[in-house]
Amino acid sequence: MNTGLQLYNTLSRKKELFQPLNAPNVGMYVCGPTVYSDVHLGNCRTFISFDLIFRYLKYLGFKVRYVRNITDAGHLEGDRDEGDDKFAKRAKLEQLEPMEIVQKYTLGFHDVLRLFNTLPPSIEPTATGHIIEQIEMIKVIINNGYGYEVGGNVYFDVEKYSKEYNYTILTNRNLEDMLNNTRELGGQDEKRGRLDFALWIKAKPETLMQWQSPWGLGFPGWHIECSAMSAKYLGAEFDIHGGGMDLAATHHTNEIAQSEACSHKQPARYWMHTNMLTVNGTRMSKSAGNGFLPHELFTGEHPLLRKGYSPMTVKFFMLQAHYRSTLDFSNDALDASEKGFRRLMSAISLLDKLSVSEQNDFDIDALKVNCINAMNDDFNSPILIAELFEAVRIINTVYDGKGKISAESLEKLKVLVNDFVFDILALKDEDAGSNDLSGILDMVINLRTEAKANKDYATSDKIRIGLQDLGIQLKDGKEGTTWNKA
Ligand code: AMP
Ligand code: ZN
Repeated sequence: MNTGLQLYNTLSRKKELFQPLNAPNVGMYVCGPTVYSDVHLGNCRTFISFDLIFRYLKYLGFKVRYVRNITDAGHLEGDRDEGDDKFAKRAKLEQLEPMEIVQKYTLGFHDVLRLFNTLPPSIEPTATGHIIEQIEMIKVIINNGYGYEVGGNVYFDVEKYSKEYNYTILTNRNLEDMLNNTRELGGQDEKRGRLDFALWIKAKPETLMQWQSPWGLGFPGWHIECSAMSAKYLGAEFDIHGGGMDLAATHHTNEIAQSEACSHKQPARYWMHTNMLTVNGTRMSKSAGNGFLPHELFTGEHPLLRKGYSPMTVKFFMLQAHYRSTLDFSNDALDASEKGFRRLMSAISLLDKLSVSEQNDFDIDALKVNCINAMNDDFNSPILIAELFEAVRIINTVYDGKGKISAESLEKLKVLVNDFVFDILALKDEDAGSNDLSGILDMVINLRTEAKANKDYATSDKIRIGLQDLGIQLKDGKEGTTWNKA
């Protein structure tokens, strides 16, 4: 199944033709959020990018099993086995159980992604739900000679592994330099090598989340969950593994090492990494404290914001950049996206009002080919959007009577808009809902006016009170009845 799709593979550092192992099936694993606090817009950018990828693969006819995990255990503050457990720390701060923290922020994450109109993944496994699988995998790694236990901790032996495999395959760093540059860390004396990382961590008496294992009470290291869960749901070898670029150097590097040490196979054929959302050039992150929360952006309640922006404006702003480019957050850029998005949506709203002719001035098939070429070139959404503005130009030209479109071409144009704007970019006309609402309300208000004219006050009161209960206030005036949301 050759769809012509090219995607950039971090492993080879170039664009490659996408050839799934088992077409039309595609297995895709994406590292999900660590649910110890609200997701910020940077996280959303990564998940919106993979939603675009998921949707486009489906458009091409692939049957995609999209696995995106929830990290709800094992993530320490430092990426290299240092610091407090993120969940335990937050649980103490909010005086909640760690699993209450997990539940609260998982629900929040889902709510936010729904606002951005992303699809749920096919499977959303949690780290805590797969402790047994992680323990089993660690056992195999030890049996294969790449892991060792010291006093209840289990470490991955990077030096041993590097003798047979390329530990830095993903980032192409020099292993010697890394060995020399890695500073001394806590527990270093226990580790055989400076780059060794924890597979299992011994619980302290005060550790809130701990499980029984062959090495005593403890909890899994952060990286093992993704190796265990991707293998469980997608097999030892699958097609695409994704996540933010910040994960490549440590988390994904260690994931590859664990999977290879276990099955002797490179787990994913294509590693895809999204670039960072930045604020004044600095990566947006929870720990740097420069993370915009989505609701702050929607309401405008943030010192850096001039005003609020709707979810679709923010999504459009993100899609106007390629997923591998950095994207810097600014009021001016958002204002420009807001204008562009409105221009796109208002042209689309004219589609049903266009009149058709015998004559046809536009080549919609060619436009479609351009849209597909844009997406086939490593999911290039900014180029796709530029092509969609060609559709805007066509619609406006026909609407203004300056060009003619045939019935057949108009039908093709509608399908194109539906596929690329609503299904693939998954944008929504946010005003359409309120237009529907006002249409319905106009009808209900007319019914009430008729009832009043017929002196049927029981019905007219019923309508007014019923709407009031739904949060809609009617106001009778000289010009007729108007409504507003209470
Ligand atoms: P976390 O919850 O920190 O594990 O992150 C969840 C996902 O968001 C990961 O794939 C990260 O790589 C990604 N991510 C974190 N910060 C940013 C950012 N500023 N821009 C884009 N993606 C990010
Ligand atoms: Zn992961």
